[in-house]
Amino acid sequence: MELRYRLELAETTEFIKKHNAHLVALQFPEGLFQIACEVSDTLERMSGAECFILGDVAYGACCVADEYARSLGADVLIHYAHRGLVEERRLALPVHYVICEFTETAFPHLPPMSGESPLAPLYRHLDAALRAHFPPATSRLALLTTAQHSRMLKVGLSGAFDALPWGDRRVADGPGRVDEYAARALGDYRAVCFPANAPLPDGEILGCTAPTLDPAQWDAIVCVVDGRFHTEAAILANPSIPVYRYEPHVGALTRETIDRAALAATRCEQMARARRARRVGLVASAMGKQASPAVMKHVEEHLRAAGREVSLLAVPEITPAALERALPDVEAWVEVGCPRLALDWGTDFPKPVLTPYEALAAFGTEPLAPAAPAAQGDASCPAGCGCGAVQPMDQWARGRPSGPWTHGPAAALHPAASGLPQQEASGSSTAGQPGQGIEAALVSLQ
Ligand code: SF4
Repeated sequence: MELRYRLELAETTEFIKKHNAHLVALQFPEGLFQIACEVSDTLERMSGAECFILGDVAYGACCVADEYARSLGADVLIHYAHRGLVEERRLALPVHYVICEFTETAFPHLPPMSGESPLAPLYRHLDAALRAHFPPATSRLALLTTAQHSRMLKVGLSGAFDALPWGDRRVADGPGRVDEYAARALGDYRAVCFPANAPLPDGEILGCTAPTLDPAQWDAIVCVVDGRFHTEAAILANPSIPVYRYEPHVGALTRETIDRAALAATRCEQMARARRARRVGLVASAMGKQASPAVMKHVEEHLRAAGREVSLLAVPEITPAALERALPDVEAWVEVGCPRLALDWGTDFPKPVLTPYEALAAFGTEPLAPAAPAAQGDASCPAGCGCGAVQPMDQWARGRPSGPWTHGPAAALHPAASGLPQQEASGSSTAGQPGQGIEAALVSLQ
């Protein structure tokens, strides 16, 4: 079995048995399909239940395929590589999340010295990299990470060993006494924090959700992550604070930026093209719980108030081919799913594709608030409207200024549409009248 990830087979077996499950659905991200068969076989052996693997890729915690798994007869769903994001009461069946934290064997480029705990070199390297860039006496650092690295980072840098629920004390109590090292680490800095970002644990980010910090209080943000995707969310949410990325698997600390002017120009151009559209498509991603019916309803009302004809569509995955095949007459799209789809890949589509926030900015009659001021950056909008230069990263955030382009505030405005529908359906759905067909359009199509 792959040892790079903590697969929590015993805990998962316990969950399966606790729910007396006979049929178990397993959901993996693309990078873990290589171990899916082995995980399935092992869980069958350990639990006595029958397992089957869902073939669709899980891109994020939002993609939890509870309804699909239930429709296939599963008693429980095991979702790999993400932390639970969706409230339990919204799930169609019991779901167990296996975060797949990296194990000590995942960092062979930083071998331990004799008698040292396996993770000590990683913490030492990170510590040295931070000190080389940020003088402790004057630096105020905010640390962000993803679920896979979260516990290891906090153990390494804060010494918060009591917070370890996994019961594995080797890291804390090993012969290298990493705890003693970690307790010393960064303690001499002027300030260090793991920013709160509910409902995520402190210091954790998603590609669409990152805390916005006060630039008067923090000098730099350091993201301990793999790849740039999550770091970009931190950059977008904090235009006035320098953002750095530490790659544990590479052992490198780098300053990360995005070309805000280019992004703003692209997004404003997409919004300007969308504004010229007579018929606008509102497409929901039917991937797990990515789409919010309440956001759909709110954006639909804005589009109709702006005099646009609206077509509602739901697809298993939003791709240029899926949209063109389903509704070729649509002249512009608003995607209610992952906002990064429009921001990162929007220009791959032949028609303009906006996020809900951008749609409200482009078609709304009132200025957007209150998230916009917090996210205002130093990049001015080339179109002069200010909206393309602002990209709020608050898709799943609670307890911070936000707006009806995200799940929570939209649900408060449209309580009747706030829960996902339970009825079964297949194929895409369109509706011609205000308020009709939203629920049908969001039925799970996986
Ligand atoms: S909406 Fe996108 S960025 Fe956010 S958790 Fe889902 S896949 Fe990740």
